[in-house]
Amino acid sequence: MSNSYIKVDYDSGTLCCAGCGEWTGTHMDSVLMYARPNGEDGDGVRICVKANGATMTIPETGPGRRHTIVLQMTCEMCSHVTTISFMQHKGQTQVEYR
Ligand SMILES: [Zn+2]
Repeated sequence: MSNSYIKVDYDSGTLCCAGCGEWTGTHMDSVLMYARPNGEDGDGVRICVKANGATMTIPETGPGRRHTIVLQMTCEMCSHVTTISFMQHKGQTQVEYR
């Protein structure tokens, strides 16, 4: 996973857009979950929940070898889609912000 420092406006406790750095106007659109309850590299649950509550199965296998959660936020200032991911891989939980 590539990474950069997570940008937060510490006065408001608000996550900043990874594209333009603004801390207002980010909207959490989707939550993606890749769960492999049966172990490394096995098939499992791959689901995306949209902001409107719609759910869909993610067709492709997710990153990493175990569980991964991805939060996607769209910025109304620059349209960048900021993602934060938590991925368990070989006894580590890796965090990605981009
Ligand atoms: Zn932005």
